[in-house]
Amino acid sequence: MSTITPRQITCPLCETTFGGHTVLSSKSRGPTSSDLRRFPDGDDPIPKQLNACPGCGFTGDVSGFEEHAPKIDQRVPAAATGVFFSQEDWDDAHDPMLADRPAPADSTLREQLVLLADRRALATDPGIRWENHAQVERWLEHGPLRQGDAWLRAAWMHDDANRDADARRCRRRALHCYVQGISQKKWFARREDLVVIAYLAGELNRRLGNGPDAQRWFEQAVAWSSGMQRLQELVELAERQMVRPQDVV
Ligand SMILES: [Zn+2]
Repeated sequence: MSTITPRQITCPLCETTFGGHTVLSSKSRGPTSSDLRRFPDGDDPIPKQLNACPGCGFTGDVSGFEEHAPKIDQRVPAAATGVFFSQEDWDDAHDPMLADRPAPADSTLREQLVLLADRRALATDPGIRWENHAQVERWLEHGPLRQGDAWLRAAWMHDDANRDADARRCRRRALHCYVQGISQKKWFARREDLVVIAYLAGELNRRLGNGPDAQRWFEQAVAWSSGMQRLQELVELAERQMVRPQDVV
């Protein structure tokens, strides 16, 4: 069971003190969803895993406010600036045909956090907290897989609140980030992780109703897993999702 402990946190970026949590996750024996969410057998750690500063909007786990805290004037390169809470916003901002807007410029974490101002008060909601965290991960250039994981967790939190449109919106962002990560390859330390993310690309496409893309990614996951005995369960799951899909494992 996970251990969730309330604690005071002082934001190193803006010095606001607020109530947060330390979460020690442990392996749960609960059921697993087909997009690889392990349901807890006790308190769910995911809603409280992130702390959101009500002063500046910075969002992360406890280590993000302590040993791994960024500097408020940390540089954010032009390509990582902006907030994109839906795939449509992202597509518009990156459409080369819509060129009549100022080119993005290099920025700082301080300037980017201002973009979360309207959402700071909403961050009491765990879904919004995970969405804000996905933006922070982008600005800090932690890579598309970390962003994808944050978007997927946001989707799970919206699922719990029966907000289907929000869950779908976040799954589209997660899928985009995962596919971007696969295309860049460098984010994968192990081939095993590549297989898992390819599987998730299949499952997210399936849940979004993109049948042919789902099929293609499931097949890719199976192909990449060749010779990796440890991944047998995931391979069987991919094969099942292609013919008899279900939302739980
Ligand atoms: Zn702060």
